[in-house]
Amino acid sequence: MGNPLQDRRTAAEWAAVGQVIKIAEEIGGFERLASIVEADLAALEPDKMPAAWRDTVIAGELKFGFADAQQRVPTVRCRVAVTVDAVCQRCLEAFRLPLETEAEWMLLGLDETAEGYEDHEVWELEESTLRPKDIVEELLIMALPFSAMHVDSESCKALSAAADDREDRTKPFAALRAQMIQDQ
Ligand SMILES: [Zn+2]
Repeated sequence: MGNPLQDRRTAAEWAAVGQVIKIAEEIGGFERLASIVEADLAALEPDKMPAAWRDTVIAGELKFGFADAQQRVPTVRCRVAVTVDAVCQRCLEAFRLPLETEAEWMLLGLDETAEGYEDHEVWELEESTLRPKDIVEELLIMALPFSAMHVDSESCKALSAAADDREDRTKPFAALRAQMIQDQ
């Protein structure tokens, strides 16, 4: 049995069976996502590169259905969670960034609209068939921060360096005071 994530069917076919797909895939299996993570990690010195970043497992679920009782508007709901290796843009060190996101889309063809559902997000179908894996990948790419930074500021070297700086700035005064005491 193949992995339904890789299968191609029409949105109506996925929705008609109310397909539910459990996601347990490694980052390395998502080409576009992996290339974005790789480009980010390329800023690191080779010895600081996290060894197994491609093996990190993405967990989650996809669920197809319909927005309407008449079953004319197919929908998909997707939630995913993964902890990606990233480079902190503040201190330029590698760190692990937890991402958790979910979305629901109506699956519509180009220029197709669904009356009464204008406030719903639309996933535009560029082809007649749809591969669930592409939805997972797109959702994760959208969840990647534009500028990743240490979530925990105590592990961020840039922030602790800034704290050291502040200490340094008080030192001239300490030195001056010591000087004044000496001069007395
Ligand atoms: Zn940092």
